[in-house]
Amino acid sequence: MVPQLSVSANPEPGWKEAMFDQLLHLLLPNVCAVCSRLLMEDESGFCKSCRAEFDPFALSTEGEGMLRSTIAARFGSSFSFERGWCRYLFHKKSPLQSALHSMKYGGLFSLGRVFGRELGELVAASGSAEGIDCVVPVPLHPLKKIERTYNQSEVIARPLAEQLERPILARVLRRNHFTRSQTGLSAVERRANLEGAFKAEGDVRGMHVLLVDDVVTTGSTMAAASGALLEAGAARISLASVALALKE
Ligand SMILES: [Zn+2]
Repeated sequence: MVPQLSVSANPEPGWKEAMFDQLLHLLLPNVCAVCSRLLMEDESGFCKSCRAEFDPFALSTEGEGMLRSTIAARFGSSFSFERGWCRYLFHKKSPLQSALHSMKYGGLFSLGRVFGRELGELVAASGSAEGIDCVVPVPLHPLKKIERTYNQSEVIARPLAEQLERPILARVLRRNHFTRSQTGLSAVERRANLEGAFKAEGDVRGMHVLLVDDVVTTGSTMAAASGALLEAGAARISLASVALALKE
């Protein structure tokens, strides 16, 4: 005699999905990326109290203004961009830094999707996404990608592109040489470190490209990547990053 499973003869529609969901939660508890507390159903990535410590720009124009002045301070008029979106102001030793660090180095790539969705909402809500033709994540050097297994900018860019209903061109930019980490470098060193760092290999002629990265510090990476896209014929560049770190 075959033992019977105690599953109702007329289960609710979607019960398999619900069971799978519960099993998944059991195996991979949904915890806050910052404080490791178990998340409530309406929380995603972070608990409410850690999220309350993040410092979002109240208006998208405020984030854009700070991004423009950061880049103008470094590049003057040699690097101009169409529109810019940043979600958060970055503070050292903050819960946001801890979350971004876990996303980048700790293998928590699901956080990238949370940030990407938020950034997508910000861009879409600004009403300026109409002219954008495609979304391009800032690439990692292939060796770094092997080391980390994923590119955090691409993980952020995917839900953003979905939200805007634009294609993501994740292979159009290539990182040429193995640049040192930008952390701790002076402005001049950063620029030299990134000289010729990117090459555009796909067809972006005439396009308005939305370039995506996790954190903008001096804008050097964005400037170098934009330069390669413009050289390949892109018509306009807009920028989106999860956070903007101001110079101390
Ligand atoms: Zn938390």
